[in-house]
Amino acid sequence: MTNDLDPLYNHPNVIGEVESLLEYKLWEIGKLEKKNGPFKSLRQVKKEGFNAVDDFLGTHEYKKPSVKKHGLLNLGKYETAMIIGIPLTAGVLYDAGTQLMFESMQFMTLVKLGIGSKLAGVVGSNLKMYSDRKDQAFYKPSFNQIVVPRDIQKRQLNAIAHEYTHSIQIQKGLDQFKSRAYLEGHARGVDYHVSRREFDIEALKESVEMSLSSLKRVYSHFALLQNKNTDPSLTMPLRKYDHLGRIEEGLISHHDLGCALFFLREKQEGLDIYRTHS
Ligand SMILES: [Zn+2]
Repeated sequence: MTNDLDPLYNHPNVIGEVESLLEYKLWEIGKLEKKNGPFKSLRQVKKEGFNAVDDFLGTHEYKKPSVKKHGLLNLGKYETAMIIGIPLTAGVLYDAGTQLMFESMQFMTLVKLGIGSKLAGVVGSNLKMYSDRKDQAFYKPSFNQIVVPRDIQKRQLNAIAHEYTHSIQIQKGLDQFKSRAYLEGHARGVDYHVSRREFDIEALKESVEMSLSSLKRVYSHFALLQNKNTDPSLTMPLRKYDHLGRIEEGLISHHDLGCALFFLREKQEGLDIYRTHS
């Protein structure tokens, strides 16, 4: 059976390939550094993002997700219970000590406890999730909904394009036979190309920053696997998405692997890899 990640793991010169992708991204970010894009409203970014993704992928027929701002009530699977739980326990849970306690508890453990504790747990989980996720955009498949940060600066075209791509993936059923890394790499590639095509410098900068950090981690990961040395000028942590420990230890995420996979495949096979899924 073939694996989505075979083109990476079975590539005869994966380190060399990732190195050249890294060099290209470093050159690209250098060109983007000094510019600032114009202010755009969420409405505008949403419209532009959806259209640009549909043009790029040829996917005009899919249902558009709703876009909501972050709030305690729209954080994911706990939100319905949250509405019931909030009047009972919110006051108590804002207490820092209580919140800390819930951070370390698993939801299933909470289900086994009494109803009061369960609701309290739901509120606790929401508060935790809110603080973890308030700076990120994410997609909620069960509601076909994109949740974006309240901060206007973060509601960028790349984020909307990325999350809308996840919505299309699910509507197409891609999540049934593709790995998480594949889906993330696909969405990252789309958000990059869409930001470029729309000449949205801020969004493009954000997207390239994330890819740079991912490629650094993938580079270190393969160097560790193959017992090779890395070029320190390429792995130096400089960017906001660089996490020193993770680069040094070669720790990677689905996003990192998917990002390298798609940029590598794109180099070999062209942009069709975003539209047809072999
Ligand atoms: Zn994603």
